[in-house]
Amino acid sequence: MFDVWKVRADFPILTQKVNGKPLVYFDNAATSQKPQIVLDAISQYYSEINANIHRGVHKLSQLATDAYEQSREKIRNHINAEHAYEVLFTSGTTHGVNLVANGFASILKPGDEIMVSALEHHSNIVPWQMLCERTGAILKVIPMNLDGELIIDGFVKLLSEKTKIVAVNHISNALGTVNPIKFIIEKAHEAGAAVFIDGAQAVPHLKPDVQDLDCDFYAFSGHKICGPTGTGILYGKEEWLEKLPPYQGGGEMIKEVTFEKTTYAGLPHKFEAGTPHIEGGIVLGTAINYLNSVGFENIQKYEHELLEYGTNKLLEIDGLKIFGTSKDKTSVISFNLEGIHPYDVGAITDKMGIAVRTGHHCAQPIMNFFGIPGTVRASFTFYNTKEEIDALAAAVKKAQLMLA
Ligand code: PMP
Repeated sequence: MFDVWKVRADFPILTQKVNGKPLVYFDNAATSQKPQIVLDAISQYYSEINANIHRGVHKLSQLATDAYEQSREKIRNHINAEHAYEVLFTSGTTHGVNLVANGFASILKPGDEIMVSALEHHSNIVPWQMLCERTGAILKVIPMNLDGELIIDGFVKLLSEKTKIVAVNHISNALGTVNPIKFIIEKAHEAGAAVFIDGAQAVPHLKPDVQDLDCDFYAFSGHKICGPTGTGILYGKEEWLEKLPPYQGGGEMIKEVTFEKTTYAGLPHKFEAGTPHIEGGIVLGTAINYLNSVGFENIQKYEHELLEYGTNKLLEIDGLKIFGTSKDKTSVISFNLEGIHPYDVGAITDKMGIAVRTGHHCAQPIMNFFGIPGTVRASFTFYNTKEEIDALAAAVKKAQLMLA
C-alpha cells in the first residue's frame, strides 16, 4: 500500500517552514525535491570514492569508473535501451536536444524540414531554429487545439519526404498533456523521418520503454526525478549515434590524436568529452532506484487522485480557468484567475508557504496561443497531499479577494 506520509519522511526539505508556514511544494515540474538516500549518495561519493574516471589505474579511479558505468547500466535497464552505449550522460534535456540538433547539421540540406509541435518547451524549439539558420532547413509546427492537445490530422498532413526529423515532447510541461508519441513515431518513420522525444516531463511519471516506442532519441533531466541538477540522459539508437558527428571535442572522446588527424572513440565516449559530472551520473542511478522502490504504478495512481482532487477543488473558485483540459494529462494544473495577473497570485501564495510557478513556463508559443501572459502552475507529485491542495485552494481564494 502506498503511504504518502512514509514517503514524505524521505524528503528532509518538506519539513521546512517558508514565510512562517509549512512548505507546500507544488513546483515539481520545474524540479523535484531530493530524498535522503540521494543526499547520502552524494556525500558518500565524495567521502569514499571520488576520483576521475576511465583513465586511472589506481583503486579509487576504478571504483568511481565502476560506479559510473553501473549507473549507466541501471539507466539502460530502466528505459529498456538495447545497449548501455546507447545511453549517454548529459547535463540535462537541453544538452540532449542541442547534441542531436548539432549533429543533424551534417545531414540536413536547404529545404529539408524539421517538425516540432505547438506544445514544446523553448529548449525543444530554439536549438532546431538555430539548426534551420545553419542549414537552410525549414521549421514546421504541429498545431494544437483549445484543450491543449496536438491536432494529429494536422501532423499527418505536414509530414512529407522533406521531413527529416520530428521533435516532440512526451508530456507538456506547461499543460501536462500526454502526447500520442507512439503514433507520431510510427507515422514519422513511415515518412522516413527520425524522431526525437523530449521526455523531461514524462520520466517523473512513467518508465519510458525506448525499444517499444521505437524512438530514435529520448532525452531527459535528472533533477526532475529526484536526482542532482546538471545531470541527464540522451538515449540514441546505435545507428543514429554512429552516424552523427561528435558534439564537443576534448579528452575522453578520442581514439588517437595527432596534429594531422584525430580519430574518435566508440560509443558512448564519442559524445562524452571532458570530465563528466561523475557524482551526478552515479547518484542519478540512486534516484532512479528510489523512484522504482516507490513504484511507478503507485506514483501514477496517487498522482491521478491528486489531479482529480485538485481540479475539482480549484474549479470551485469562481473565475478560475484551467488551461490544458486533455483527458490524457499528468498532475499539472495550469490556471488563471479572471482579471488577475498570474505573478500576483504566485506572490500571495508564496507568502503562505506555497511554491507554485508563474509565468510562461518556457513555452511562450502556448501562452500566445491562448492569448495570455502566463499561468499559475501547480504541479503535484507523489509526496504531495490533498491537505496541501486544500491549502492551495484557500490561498488562491485569498489572493482573489485581495486582488479583485
Ligand atoms: N523540456 C521540457 C518539457 C521541460 O519541462 C524542461 C524543463 N523545464 C526542459 C525541456 C529543459 O530541461 P533542462 O532545463 O533540465 O535542460
